[in-house]
Amino acid sequence: VDTLYVLDEPSIGLHSRDMDRLLTLLRRLRTTGNTVIVVEHDPEAIRAADYMIELGPLSGEKGGQLVFAGPAARVNESPLTGAYLTGEKEIPLPESRRRLGPRWITLTGAREHNLKGVDLRIPLGAITAITGVSGSGKSTLVHDVMLRAIETRLHGEHSAKQHLGERVGAYDSISGVDAIDDIVEIDQSPIGKSPRSNPVTYVKAYDEIRRIFADAPLARQRRYTPGTFSFNVAGGRCETCEGAGYLEVEMVFMADVFVPCDECGGKRFKPAVLEVKVNNRTIYDVLQLTIDEAIRAFPREEKLGQALWHLQQVGLGYLRLGQPATTLSGGEAQRLKIARELIFSGRGTGSRLYLMDEPTTGLHLDDIRKLAGVFDRLVDAGHTLVLIEHNLDVIKLADWVVDLGPE
Ligand code: ZN
Repeated sequence: VDTLYVLDEPSIGLHSRDMDRLLTLLRRLRTTGNTVIVVEHDPEAIRAADYMIELGPLSGEKGGQLVFAGPAARVNESPLTGAYLTGEKEIPLPESRRRLGPRWITLTGAREHNLKGVDLRIPLGAITAITGVSGSGKSTLVHDVMLRAIETRLHGEHSAKQHLGERVGAYDSISGVDAIDDIVEIDQSPIGKSPRSNPVTYVKAYDEIRRIFADAPLARQRRYTPGTFSFNVAGGRCETCEGAGYLEVEMVFMADVFVPCDECGGKRFKPAVLEVKVNNRTIYDVLQLTIDEAIRAFPREEKLGQALWHLQQVGLGYLRLGQPATTLSGGEAQRLKIARELIFSGRGTGSRLYLMDEPTTGLHLDDIRKLAGVFDRLVDAGHTLVLIEHNLDVIKLADWVVDLGPE
């Protein structure tokens, strides 16, 4: 008794049925004299609470305020979450369903791990949701069997894409793979180990920003090139920190510590380079902008605007352009990867099968609504989506559902 329990998104990876069991356990903890705090996006879990605290009103710069705190009976008064809980706002059902076929990937006799001779059919050019309680075999079927089998078909047994030490799970046959050009898994792993990598370099939009700065009158007068505004090559960057803006101090027995560079004061470039301004902003100022702000700051730059728009569409408008990739959460990294695929999907990447494992992790219902639109755009561009998902609001968007179980 008298213990404070803190849980951060316990619903991740839980089927609705298991969620009920978890909530029963949490209630029992409370009834026996403990306090339970849950950070959660799942409406079912929120409804189970006695007291709710909402932060907002939006993300990043537009967040950070307490917008509601009160008993469960009054949650409808909370500005954003309340609107979803009362059904005033909702993730709408698709107006029409895609026609399935004629192209399918058919895999038969999957029997790796606990799979009992499962036949799997995936319609191409559509959204498929793979569902089932935890431990039912979803990951085994999708990752160990389907993904590996398709990779082997497309890239050969010893292709560089094969994950080292991971063999293909047991199955009888697979067909229909010829109709896709590649299979891409979009997971929540970090997008880079270097803090130099950031949202705009990752989607290649930084090339556009460097070009815009090199085009400024003062830059042209001084014969600066786009390379002058790079923090990856010598020229315009601060050489003390090599354009990172900070120095890494190795600590014995402890994690390395990053301290701001005292040569450039964390501004990453030489003073002369920072004299070049576009719309009254230096290159450093631009890297400090959020994606939402940058869209307004460069209204005439079509190519840059398009890349930024895609980042906004996956719910990342609050990120700063120069935010080190190492500080992004798993969910943010995954959405950044989706944005990159959207940006390049129109540029001759062929027809791809995208595999995503719980892409809604860490997302508020309002962000899930935006992500749903993103899924549609990928499919409309000729690609196929396979989602392992527990979130009922996402499952209802799928054109085809594969449910594993019963336990
Ligand atoms: Zn420096």
